[in-house]
Amino acid sequence: MLLSKTTNDTVCQEYSGGENFSLRDILLKGKRLNLTERVNYFSGFLNNLNESKQNLCMRLVSSVSDREIEITDPYTGNKRKLLMFGSNNYLGLASHPHVRKEVEKCISSYGVGIGGPPLLNGYTKLHQELEERLANFKHKEAAMIFSTGYGANVGLVTGLINCNDKLLYDEYSHASFCDGIKMANLDSYKFKHNSAEGLAELLKHYSPTKSSDIFVGVEGVYSMDGDIAPLDKIVSLTKKNGAILMIDDAHGTGVMGKTGSGTAEHFGVTDEVDIIMGTFSKTFGVVGGFVCSTKPIIDYLRFFARSYMFSASLPPMVISAVLAGLDVIETEPELREKLQRNVKYTLDGIKRLGISADTQSAIIALRVPETMNIRKAAYKFHKLGIFVNSVEYPAVPLNQQRFRISLMANHTREDIYKLLQSLQVVWAECNSEKIQTKAA
Ligand code: PLP
Repeated sequence: MLLSKTTNDTVCQEYSGGENFSLRDILLKGKRLNLTERVNYFSGFLNNLNESKQNLCMRLVSSVSDREIEITDPYTGNKRKLLMFGSNNYLGLASHPHVRKEVEKCISSYGVGIGGPPLLNGYTKLHQELEERLANFKHKEAAMIFSTGYGANVGLVTGLINCNDKLLYDEYSHASFCDGIKMANLDSYKFKHNSAEGLAELLKHYSPTKSSDIFVGVEGVYSMDGDIAPLDKIVSLTKKNGAILMIDDAHGTGVMGKTGSGTAEHFGVTDEVDIIMGTFSKTFGVVGGFVCSTKPIIDYLRFFARSYMFSASLPPMVISAVLAGLDVIETEPELREKLQRNVKYTLDGIKRLGISADTQSAIIALRVPETMNIRKAAYKFHKLGIFVNSVEYPAVPLNQQRFRISLMANHTREDIYKLLQSLQVVWAECNSEKIQTKAA
């Protein structure tokens, strides 16, 4: 099992808690249906959810993205405010005055878009400046910008790793990373989540040769549980075995480390990590992705990552938002400190309620008792004015269902107090509901 090679089926199979699931493998598994039948089957599933007020997907937001948002309630049609505990906008940069001002200035200089990929007409002075600043921020020689974090992972995996190489990766790796593995049909092996021992075992069997490399892929912060990779142990294993280490630091960038550089900085191992990938859709509050590494690797990737070559560049206004976000990260370290205080305050409060929780990041995962109907509990949170994300069966086994609370630097003590009060109500009122046994 430990050494079993992942195939295009198993990269996405045996889902056990990460962020890599597909409804195709859950709802439609084993069913042989034509398109009309599949669509009808899924409509029935959605209708069931809607009728029982259990569908909170795609709530219509009509305000600035901040600690409080305004939405149109899907069940009453009325506008109402919710406290946002489900956003990756950890430092509040999506609505930061400096960021907004810089974007407005940028629109008047550059307009709203660019109309082409970077290798043709999609590379401005701003793109170049951002790549240089990202490389500095991550302490690497060079950086390149992708239009999405998803595209950055797909481009990295398909562009850099060859069929004769081997890829060893954490079983909870993000769907974008797994999709890259499937697209490239790589020789790949999963190890148990955050298990340095599991990786060590694989490395005993696979070593680089003159014509092939061993790549290791992990994340800095895992978004489903908010736990962090043991990078100190992973770095020493990869160095000892001559493997190339790649980190997806989507959720660690701007949050982890003394200067916010990320999870590698948190562990003091930045120089030992070969490739760092990140996104602009979390801390920076916009959209886009990037990869940092040596200059030769980045120069190579620009021509081998198809999601870079064949996809239009981010509009300059998005680039200016990230540049301004970097200004804030560099000049307002108090935001990171405030975020950390908010996380601690929330964790302490949750523990005082007798609910177990822990985290090393800005995400707190709350395991839901098997006796709780998580969809009803999610609707209760919604009614109480709290926006949280739920991770539900059948996407995870019943005993691993959870709520994900994401903290922001600009949450106030009152916001957190309201979250804790609501949590107490939800846990008291929804804990003895009948256990869900079916998807619908
Ligand atoms: N990697 C990780 C760990 C993520 O959590 C995400 C987004 O959820 C991505 C990559 C993809 O990034 P984006 O949403 O910016 O395309």
